[in-house]
Amino acid sequence: MNDYLNTPIEFLKGVGPERGALLRKELGITNFWELLNYFPFRYIDRSLFHTVQRITGLEGNVQLKGKITAIQETGKGRAKRLKAIFADETGRIELVWFKGVSWIKNSLSKNEVYHVFGKPQRYGATWNIAHPDLIKAEDAAAMKGLQPVYHSGEKLTNKGLHSKGIEKLTFQIVQDISGKIPEVLPETIISVYGLMPREEAIKQVHAPSSAVLLEKARYRLKLEELLFLQLELLIRKTGSTSGGKSYAFSSVGDVFNEFYNNHLPFELTNAQKRVVKEIYADVRKGQHMNRLIQGDVGSGKTLVALLSMLIAIGNDFQAALMAPTEILAQQHYETISDLLKPIGVEVGLLTGSVKTKERRVIHEQLENGSLKILIGTHALLEPKVKFANLGLVVIDEQHRFGVAQRARLWKKNKLPPHVLVMTATPIPRTLAMTFYGDLDVSVIDELPPGRKPIKTVHYEEQSRLIVFDFLKTEIALGRQVYIVYPLIEESETLDYKNLMEGFEAISRSFPKPQYQVSIVHGKMKPEDKDFEMRRFAKGETNIMVATTVIEVGVNVPNASVMVIESSEKFGLSQLHQLRGRVGRGAEKSYCILMTGEKISREGKKRLQTMVRTNDGFEIAEVDLEIRGPGDIMGTQQSGVLNLQIANLARDGKIVSLARNIAKEVLHQDSNLSQPENSILREELKRILKSKPNWSKIS
Ligand code: ADP
Ligand code: MG
Repeated sequence: MNDYLNTPIEFLKGVGPERGALLRKELGITNFWELLNYFPFRYIDRSLFHTVQRITGLEGNVQLKGKITAIQETGKGRAKRLKAIFADETGRIELVWFKGVSWIKNSLSKNEVYHVFGKPQRYGATWNIAHPDLIKAEDAAAMKGLQPVYHSGEKLTNKGLHSKGIEKLTFQIVQDISGKIPEVLPETIISVYGLMPREEAIKQVHAPSSAVLLEKARYRLKLEELLFLQLELLIRKTGSTSGGKSYAFSSVGDVFNEFYNNHLPFELTNAQKRVVKEIYADVRKGQHMNRLIQGDVGSGKTLVALLSMLIAIGNDFQAALMAPTEILAQQHYETISDLLKPIGVEVGLLTGSVKTKERRVIHEQLENGSLKILIGTHALLEPKVKFANLGLVVIDEQHRFGVAQRARLWKKNKLPPHVLVMTATPIPRTLAMTFYGDLDVSVIDELPPGRKPIKTVHYEEQSRLIVFDFLKTEIALGRQVYIVYPLIEESETLDYKNLMEGFEAISRSFPKPQYQVSIVHGKMKPEDKDFEMRRFAKGETNIMVATTVIEVGVNVPNASVMVIESSEKFGLSQLHQLRGRVGRGAEKSYCILMTGEKISREGKKRLQTMVRTNDGFEIAEVDLEIRGPGDIMGTQQSGVLNLQIANLARDGKIVSLARNIAKEVLHQDSNLSQPENSILREELKRILKSKPNWSKIS
């Protein structure tokens, strides 16, 4: 990086020590280059005008041209507001500011013609625009059609560093950078993919001369950003445990063959077969396997896990399966012990509630190697749990296990055991590629035959009687019903109140002895929860009222209806998980989404998506669109990437392209040591210095 770009931000004309300190503190911008990398998040098309009269509220952002006719400041302290009446030839509208009131008030003038940009909202009988973008028409005249908009904040705005202020600063540098922005991509990549040169792209992104050139500029910068990210991930992947030394399972082994040929409960789906093959291809090589299996709810991941474990024990290793909850561990334990009974393989269960005495026995059997398969919760990560020869660990429902927890597994044997992580939250591929950079991905994209798609419907509260009548019909046919209530941490007490009231109402509508109703929630003792779950699983109760504790994994094939109360409060992937609890048997199954009348726009979109499709991947894409990647991967991962311009949710195609280019480059030159790649190597080094967080990705 050259001296010019490294110039401390204070030295830019119009910045100085005070604003400089603010830019450093609020935006992390310390020099010219970093300001150039603070990209606009949208653009205003300055060539189009709307009129006040034609505002309907449906057009989103509009641009108006007119004058301010009145200015009024109201309230004090936090309640301080600035209101201005803005009029064009067709009518008037109110402009409102809640922040930066004094600064903005001083800058407004009644004699100027302004261009106003923002989103009109109805306010009583009139329209208003909160925090509009406001520029003098004479300033606007000097601007090209597309004006960049930058994120700012209250403190920045108070010092004149609102979007417009940032734009002015940036523009000064943009005018000065010709010949000063070094290219960081090799000539071949630029020409093969027809990319805009870097300097041109930086200029265009801050001061676009046309929409087409802006698009090319953004594309170039996104690809660059994602390419370096993928290079880093792939380089780390080759250097990491994956592909490193581990145990070779040289054949599938006798146990596997005996089970597969004589005791398989049903023919595997093609997808299951393919994934088992992919796993075996990994483990037979003696290179460390880190594989993520994505499979929608009900796609049969358990059986794939079981077959993989059999390969391990057929090679004289032990295998462990780790589940996120006690109930789920218990259920896996039962399913797997049943399946393995005929071939005489013993299975152990280790969870928090296993008694000390039993626990000691299990510890001993693990250490002397007599116990081959252990199933449990994260209790099995404890250092006390030692294995004679652990060769494979399967982690079910991966998203609940952190990266650090996964790393603790490496220490369970001399070489790190193979790892298979299974998730039912279908993560869009672009995200998987990024967040699980060190994992290979297998997809079970096929459901076992004979599954009937679950019919999903949305009912409002006033239709409750219809819903209850329907439940009675289903119960009369011998089926069972889940009724799930939300449990959201911030309003836990309220949620419990709703749950308990719901339970009472249901008990009244479904009276004993004709109906039996179970209840399970997080505040119950594990034994009690278990007892109720079991009663339901055995068909002794007709209805299971529960919070989301039943979300993952639970398998009761006779249950045919899932009612989700206050379903607008649930996230999409959670709704999909819950729905996956039904449709496991041969009967037609239903998911009923109950809501009140008032639902947010996002809430509506979630419900519509659920009604429209059963496809977990489609749902994941919508979810990603609504929530953004940070939220989906959980707080642990959010903010780690801190991408400047690319968006993992929206730029999926560019992520894939970046991944492919990175692969190709590294295939030719695995450590970027060739002269033509030296600019890549240098830039990557520089980026890693400024983004220490990248090392925390998976
Ligand atoms: P998930 O992928 O959600 O963990 P499970 O492993 O619990 O799914 O499987 C869901 C149900 O499908 C179980 O009842 C299981 O026995 C059944 N199943 C799994 N594989 C097959 C198959 N190939 N053919 C028929 N049923 C299957
Ligand atoms: Mg499962």
